Amino acid sequence: VIAVKHLKKIFGENEVLKDINEEVYDGQVICLIGPSGAGKSTFLRCLNLLDKPSAGQVFFEGDELTALDDQHLDQLRQQMGMVFQSFNLFPHKNVLENLKLAPMKVKGTSEQEATQLANKLLKQVGLADKAEAFPDNLSGGQQQRVAIARALAMNPKVMLFDEPTSALDPEMVGEVLKVMQDLATAGMTMVVVTHEMGFAKNVADQVWFMADGYIQESNTPQEFFAHPKTARAQDFLSKIL
Ligand code: ATP
Ligand code: MG
Repeated sequence: VIAVKHLKKIFGENEVLKDINEEVYDGQVICLIGPSGAGKSTFLRCLNLLDKPSAGQVFFEGDELTALDDQHLDQLRQQMGMVFQSFNLFPHKNVLENLKLAPMKVKGTSEQEATQLANKLLKQVGLADKAEAFPDNLSGGQQQRVAIARALAMNPKVMLFDEPTSALDPEMVGEVLKVMQDLATAGMTMVVVTHEMGFAKNVADQVWFMADGYIQESNTPQEFFAHPKTARAQDFLSKIL
């Protein structure tokens, strides 16, 4: 679904991504892990060109995103849902309105259809009873589940997550990971930047370890956690496990 070739990203003098070459296949769950400042968020933002790569190519479903004009890019971007550490819900709109907005505005979905879809997604994330609630009155875990549902409302082919549980109180992490695990089981293609090693072990098909501007290791979670090959990964794991 996604292919990245010789991706580079430079901020001023800072060469954050040096040469990334990876592919994400249909239905695959990738967990991207690595030390702070490694470029994980930058990489994720380059996948949908929220950050413009300094060099290299990004392909999505065979189309080269890095070669498209803005209008075509926007169309393809809609097919990549993104969920961040901060939930970024619209505070003055209730949950249902938050979910209906993009499908109606961007896709021209009818109000009735958008409402139906929103209610279905709220059920899926376990928040059927919160349709009328405002974001401020929800817990962090609930807000993040709404944010996931909102991304799903655009019917994306791929979901990109950037540390979706890092801002949550510990007791709310599980409910969000559960929703993500369900999505993975349902076959969603996902790229997940996370510090949740349990999730990586149990849900990921592949773990990518990023450090110093490269994907240093790409392996199954079983292999990666049991036998990290590079000193960099061994060091990282020794600090967090
Ligand atoms: P963390 O685990 O802390 O989220 P990360 O792996 O996501 O880290 P990035 O946020 O991608 O790391 O940042 C990688 C490097 O790129 C850092 O040195 C950061 O300062 C730099 N960087 C990121 N965004 C920008 C920007 N917009 N302008 C300049 N430098 C940036
Ligand atoms: Mg980051």
